[in-house]
Parts: sequence; structure tokens; C-alpha cells
Amino acid sequence: MWKLRGYPRTVERLKKVTPQSLPCAYLILGPPHTGKTTLALDFACLMNCEGKERPCGSCHSCCRITSGKHPDVVVIKALEGKEEVGIDQIRGMEREAFIPPFEGIAKTFIIQERLSLEAANSLLKTLEEPPPKVLFILTSSHREALPLTILSRCSQVELCPLPFSVVQEELEDRGVPEDRARLLAHLSGGRIGWAMSALRDEGVVSRREEVLKDLVRRVELSTGQRLRDLNIPRNLDELLNLWEELWRDVLLFQARVPDFIRSLDMMPEIKHAASKLKLSQVVHFLLLLSKARENLKKNANPRISLELLLINMPRLEEKVGRVHQA
Ligand SMILES: [Zn+2]
Repeated sequence: MWKLRGYPRTVERLKKVTPQSLPCAYLILGPPHTGKTTLALDFACLMNCEGKERPCGSCHSCCRITSGKHPDVVVIKALEGKEEVGIDQIRGMEREAFIPPFEGIAKTFIIQERLSLEAANSLLKTLEEPPPKVLFILTSSHREALPLTILSRCSQVELCPLPFSVVQEELEDRGVPEDRARLLAHLSGGRIGWAMSALRDEGVVSRREEVLKDLVRRVELSTGQRLRDLNIPRNLDELLNLWEELWRDVLLFQARVPDFIRSLDMMPEIKHAASKLKLSQVVHFLLLLSKARENLKKNANPRISLELLLINMPRLEEKVGRVHQA
């Protein structure tokens, strides 16, 4: 039984891979929380399952893989405090890859983004001359984060966000009431992994709401007051992503395409902002947000970036707000 839901064509394609097709390398691409690791683990189950209908989800191998206890299925991700998988981790993986499986049929290495340049070069050598019975699965949000030489060695699978209705149906199939399923489907933006994690942990939705309410509160303050008690979160990009979602929703409401609105739980605030601001102000601020995210990737100062955004954010009290160039 495949744990990844909502991607029947992808599943049909991967079902054709058998342990006899190994060694092989796959790259699973998709935005965060679309289910890349879930699919990678499903794939590992497919290769090692002892049941009749692979992956059965209930045999010894499938259970050990999904609980993270199978000795032949290894997930490699950046070490605590690091942003990239390092060369030492890849060298360690390479040594293990040449040892035959301990109890499974195929050794599986799931390598989560990102890789350092040295690690990528080292991995390339292994992909060029792979050991037998090994499946390499890379997962990444950005195709361009990997060298072309590695891309050319991998079969690629892309998980795009699903239509909201598909996520809603999947949640309802799991017994989630219609209203809740609709809300989570919209909040997820079609990313089924996000919807599932929100289902397991209610804090995911409440933390999101808390951040957005703080943003909305600041929109109504004067420029000076907006900068008071300003905490710079560890993951500023995540915060800016949430802002972008909310402002995009305001724009969608103004453009009269409400079906695509994600923050259904913020509808009163979205309608209020949409009625008070001009479309051009919202578009301009969205551009500033996008520019700020780009600058942060180039190591711009997070505090200055955030302060600039707060200063330039349109104010709700004004019919025609002040919009300055950053
Ligand atoms: Zn099984």
C-alpha cells in the first residue's frame, strides 16, 4: 500500500521498477511538504517488500522501513546546524553501498537536499559506477540546486501541488469532516504532506494563524510602532512565505478569483484589506516581498530586510497608502 496519496500516475510509473532493474538513481522534485520523502520510503518498500502486492505496507520489511528501523534503508540529511549534506556523509554512504544488503533485497539511500559541491562530486562518481542492488533516491525542492551531471544520471519524478479538491477528498477519505478538510486543503496550497502534518499536529495551523494575526496587527500600526517588539525568526524565509501567501490572497480577492484563496481562516482580514487597499499597492508589496526573499538568499541582513518590509507595507487606514521604494 502506497502511503503517498493523490499521485496515481507517478505511482503507476514507479511500480514498473523491480529489484532486477537495480542499480538505479531517482530524483524526486517538488516544493516542500508535497510528499517527497513519503514517496521515497514507498519506493524503498516497493524494492524490499516480502508481500504479494508490493508494497504491502504490513510485512516485516515494510514495517521496518516506515518506522525507520530497516538497516538497508538509510535517510541522509544535513547534520544539525548545517545546511548541506557534507562530503563525509556521502563517503560514508559509498562505503556502505558496497556492502551487500543485511536483510533486505535492495539497499536504498534517500539523500535529502541540499548537497555541498564536494559531496555532489563524490556522489557523481558513485552514480557513474554504482554498486549492484542499490537504489539511490535524491529529493529536492529545486532542480537547479543539483549539478547537471547528477541530473543526467537520475530518472526524474516531479510532485506538483495538487488541486485543493483532491487534497480535500483525501482528507475526507480519512474521516476528516468536510469543513475541516476544505480548510486544511486550502491552507496546504495543494501540498498533501503539509495537510497530513497539520492533521497529526494541530499546532501547525495555530502557529501559522498566530504569525499571520501578528502581521495583520502590524498592518494597522504606524510605521514606528510596527518596528516595536520585533523578533527576527530563525527561519525568516518561512515567515516571508506566509506573508506572501496572505498578500496573494488579498490580491486574488481583489481580482475576484476567490476559489484559489488559501487562508480561508483569515477571510475577514483578507476582505478588509482588499477593500481598503488599491490593487497596485498589493502588487507592489508582493514584489517587495519577493525581492526581500531573493536578497536573503544572497545573505542580506535579516533584520534590515524585515524592517524595510514593515516600513514599506501599505497601511490599512489609508485609502491611498504610502508606498516607498525599498
Ligand atoms: Zn511489504
